[in-house]
Amino acid sequence: MEISNTLRKVAVIGGGVSGLSIAQMLKNSFQVIVFEKENKPGGLIRCERINGVLYHQVGGHVFNSKRKDVLDWFWDFFDQQKEFTKTPRNAAISIFDKMIGYPIENHLYELPSEITEKIIVELLQRAKTTASAPENFEEFLQQMFGETLYQLYFKPYNEKIWRRNLKEVPLSWLEGKLPMPTVEEILFNNIHHVKETEMVHSSFYYAKNNGSQFIADRLAEGLTVHYNACISSIVRDKNNWLVNGEPFDIVIFCGNIVSLPQMISGVDFDAFHRPINELQYHGTTSVLCEIQTNPYSWIYMPNDSHLSHRIICTGNFSSTNNVNGKLSGTIEFTDSISQEEILLNLRNIPLSPKYLAHHFTPYTYPIQGKDTREMISSLKNVLEPHNLFLLGRFAEWEYYNMDAAIGAAMSLSQSIKTKQTL
Ligand SMILES: Cc1cc2nc3c(=O)[nH]c(=O)nc-3n(C[C@H](O)[C@H](O)[C@H](O)COP(=O)(O)OP(=O)(O)OC[C@H]3O[C@@H](n4cnc5c(N)ncnc54)[C@H](O)[C@@H]3O)c2cc1C
Repeated sequence: MEISNTLRKVAVIGGGVSGLSIAQMLKNSFQVIVFEKENKPGGLIRCERINGVLYHQVGGHVFNSKRKDVLDWFWDFFDQQKEFTKTPRNAAISIFDKMIGYPIENHLYELPSEITEKIIVELLQRAKTTASAPENFEEFLQQMFGETLYQLYFKPYNEKIWRRNLKEVPLSWLEGKLPMPTVEEILFNNIHHVKETEMVHSSFYYAKNNGSQFIADRLAEGLTVHYNACISSIVRDKNNWLVNGEPFDIVIFCGNIVSLPQMISGVDFDAFHRPINELQYHGTTSVLCEIQTNPYSWIYMPNDSHLSHRIICTGNFSSTNNVNGKLSGTIEFTDSISQEEILLNLRNIPLSPKYLAHHFTPYTYPIQGKDTREMISSLKNVLEPHNLFLLGRFAEWEYYNMDAAIGAAMSLSQSIKTKQTL
């Protein structure tokens, strides 16, 4: 269906990065209203202050992008020099009771020599053989790094995150998320102590004040956003959508697709109930702690003496995140974990973390099955002719970082504007 010039009212459901970005991109061409169920913008990037200490309720969000169009758009909203810091990543892996540089394959020289020797033999073997294309994450890691490095680091670390056999983790989420070095590159990087610079967060921007909440607050400026506005019904009514009863010409859904079957009526949606119900995901418990002084941005922890996989040293990102000079950080656990279990686990985690607060977010990691992308694409084909669009990490079930969410908003806003002028 064509969008004519008279169809001009847009409901954006969800005030996370995706919803705020597309609302900004469309606001000069349409009358845009953003509905956000929480009392402030941000979604996954929101932060609170606990007794003055900045608390990322999910992750420890930092920003960068490989895409020039995304960076240009983003920096129109901010003064990069005055409002942000740019920091090279200083990540470490806590293994053998010490900190080894990240990524581990560039720091083989820091491992015990007998282990380094085994890894080199396996890598050279890899260079000589042509393996068939890996079918799952386990095969990918074994082929890429060899069995010793897989067993030492990649398996235990990734099993903590994914909480499943890595054979059951599909490869579709991987694109651009992990470095894929050749054996020659690994050996060269070890001999010359080369730092990894290809990945999106090899260096990153971070707001001097208020972390990623600063980004959300700025992106919400100049928009009409209704807070504490949980949308529970989206009804097709002739050529309109009724969003909680209010008519709109276009709806952009940036919430969680799992809640869509209960909300939507007036379009043929039945075939999608079952595949949507079967979508898999993980949540994250983020524990705010006071931690010992250290030089790191992230610390990865494969060690099985506790359940956490990562410390994000958010207090090192900006001194304004800390109070009384005591360094803060968040410690991540996959899925829900009780306060009692958290306290037990903290005893075995490096940097002597002292508990301050914790928060569980049920939807943080979408897991794509082999049919997920195809299903979402078919659903879009059903909804888009009626001017209902899906955008965002859990609306599209994509492993988006902030910059990918902004990139997706750019493509969608362009396509909506183009249709409008047809
Ligand atoms: C642990 C972790 C660490 C991460 N670290 C980084 C990082 O360092 N850098 C980076 O770039 N990216 C990072 N990401 C990814 C980043 O969080 C996402 O790309 C981004 O926040 C996705 O934004 P979104 O708007 O698509 O989704 P969300 O942030 O989930 O926004 C959805 C919004 O919709 C609202 N909503 C839902 N349903 C309704 C409803 N019915 N009515 C009204 N409102 C509704 C929600 O309240 C929410 O505000 C990380 C993600 C995780 C899980």
